[in-house]
Amino acid sequence: MARLLKLSKRSEKIPKSGIRKMFDLAQKYTDVINLSIGEPDFDTPPHIIEAAIRAMKAGYTHYTVNAGFSEFRKTVSEKLRKENGIDADPDEEIMATAGGMGGLSLAMLTIIDPGDEVLIPNPGFPNYAAQVVLAGGKPISYPLKEEDNFRVDVNDIVKRITKKTKVILVNSPSNPTGSVLKEKELKNIADIALEHELLVISDEAYEAILYDGAKHISIASLPEMKEKTVSIFTFSKTYAMTGWRIGFAVAQKEIIEGMLELQEHILVHPSSISQMAAIAALRGSKDYTQMMLKEYAERREIITEELNSMPTVTCLKPEGAFYVFPNIKKTGMSSTEMAMNLLEKARIITVPGTAFGEYGEGYVRISYSTSKEKIREAMDRMRVALEKLA
Ligand code: PMP
Repeated sequence: MARLLKLSKRSEKIPKSGIRKMFDLAQKYTDVINLSIGEPDFDTPPHIIEAAIRAMKAGYTHYTVNAGFSEFRKTVSEKLRKENGIDADPDEEIMATAGGMGGLSLAMLTIIDPGDEVLIPNPGFPNYAAQVVLAGGKPISYPLKEEDNFRVDVNDIVKRITKKTKVILVNSPSNPTGSVLKEKELKNIADIALEHELLVISDEAYEAILYDGAKHISIASLPEMKEKTVSIFTFSKTYAMTGWRIGFAVAQKEIIEGMLELQEHILVHPSSISQMAAIAALRGSKDYTQMMLKEYAERREIITEELNSMPTVTCLKPEGAFYVFPNIKKTGMSSTEMAMNLLEKARIITVPGTAFGEYGEGYVRISYSTSKEKIREAMDRMRVALEKLA
């Protein structure tokens, strides 16, 4: 019996999410303001919900092919051509996935063999390392440094390339830093990928959440990169559709075929209703996304101003996503101590920078996907708590 109850080595190796840990710890308090949220605080736009209801009533409630409805892939290919400069064949190079996470995990499982090394950003979204481990690979961190505005210094990637390196993972706009890579930086990464024959997995979850005229560039749109890149997209952030579990992956035919084979055995396909809703999202008005962006932009002003007015905190203004990643080194506290103090003394939930890798030490991640009132209240509480701790 004991042997049967033992979990697989694979499942035991997966590190627990530091974001989830903070959230679990906060459950014993009632008066907390949650600034650890990784999703829009807005509901899905009504026209998308209506489309889903119509789809259900019209009988779109059956299995679809593994890649998703052909109408879904056609609509996605138009979006990719118009917005991302990627010319992808809807029949062979695009598939529907269960959100960005579905695409990322299938890409890793399809590309990585045991022992293969995957270069991942650090601080970076913690699920990357877990997914690489799950696929039997070895995550190798490349640092994102504050002095570079948390953008990629390609030399940090080059230094870490070995014979075992297979993939460079790129995430722009970035979670947790909010940095957005410029064309020049993406070109540098592309050159390295081409020179060393590496694949790129490009996580573009926050492609639409940009400020101050920042531009999102898909690395697959750069010369020769379409064949070398698996691009991962999701409806979660752009359309406030986290619960719908719908996104898509774009890659060369052979990779998509491999991913589809796995999708058949793991998920079959993402929800038919979510696929129909996603078509409506792509075809419909972008006003709702614009409304969210305007609100995020105002909150970003408030939160960066407040943080920078605290004597022991400095905070860069992020160009994308909805997180700030303030430097708290002057407080003398570690990231974990800071997050714990903010929970116990200020009743605000943040995430220690180290939840995103060791290069996140000295920082905390604060999400501004919550109302301005709550942000102002949280910043007041933080200021008072830090004054008392000084
Ligand atoms: N990539 C990044 C960087 C994220 O922050 C998230 C969600 N927090 C995702 C991918 C995946 O989100 P989803 O699976 O909902 O599309």
